[in-house]
Amino acid sequence: MIHIASTTAEEQQLIQEGKLLPVMEHFYTIQGEGMYTGVASYFIRLGGCDVGCHWCDVKDSWDAEKHPLTNVDVLVDLATSQAKTIIITGGEPLMWDLTYLTKKLHEKGARIHIETSGAYPLSGEIDWVCLSPKKLMLPLDEVCEAANELKCIVFNNHDFQFAEEQAARVGKDCTLFLQTEWSKRDKNLPLIVEYVKENPKWRYSLQTHKYLDIP
Ligand code: SF4
Repeated sequence: MIHIASTTAEEQQLIQEGKLLPVMEHFYTIQGEGMYTGVASYFIRLGGCDVGCHWCDVKDSWDAEKHPLTNVDVLVDLATSQAKTIIITGGEPLMWDLTYLTKKLHEKGARIHIETSGAYPLSGEIDWVCLSPKKLMLPLDEVCEAANELKCIVFNNHDFQFAEEQAARVGKDCTLFLQTEWSKRDKNLPLIVEYVKENPKWRYSLQTHKYLDIP
């Protein structure tokens, strides 16, 4: 778990217990990509990530210190008053112990999804694991085995090989998605379409929220 320097001893204790977490943003929208595209969902984006992808489009999330420590009970009430599906993302959300957050969400009847690089151990009660592996910190075997969907980002041609290597690590029921890194979409979109046609175990994950210009 990350240590946040600018906290009191009491806050540190609450962070350890998962009752206080750095939240970059939280909002109600539709899931834009992957298996649950189009499903109304409440996103909780936790601060903190040390994976360091150079093309990351949420670099502001990396430094956990930048994001307000948020009372998890208040956040759970807010999220579950609006949505049945809650998506915990980041940053890398598994840098935090999600036991308390997910327990409270389940008590309110929510379905819990997580979007993770898989670089840290799973914690908490999670109903749907979207694994998006990164080359700089490879996913742990336990997250590969738990993955319900594998979402591999294509930045350049080498990423198809990396995607195949990761696909060999997940279970047989895991749904496989290829998705372009957004800034490379003009070049990559036709490449991915052709790849999926030749390798139909893969699906193309269109980032519909970006085309719709919604969060
Ligand atoms: Fe960004 Fe995700 Fe990579 Fe972290 S794992 S650097 S949040 S793309």
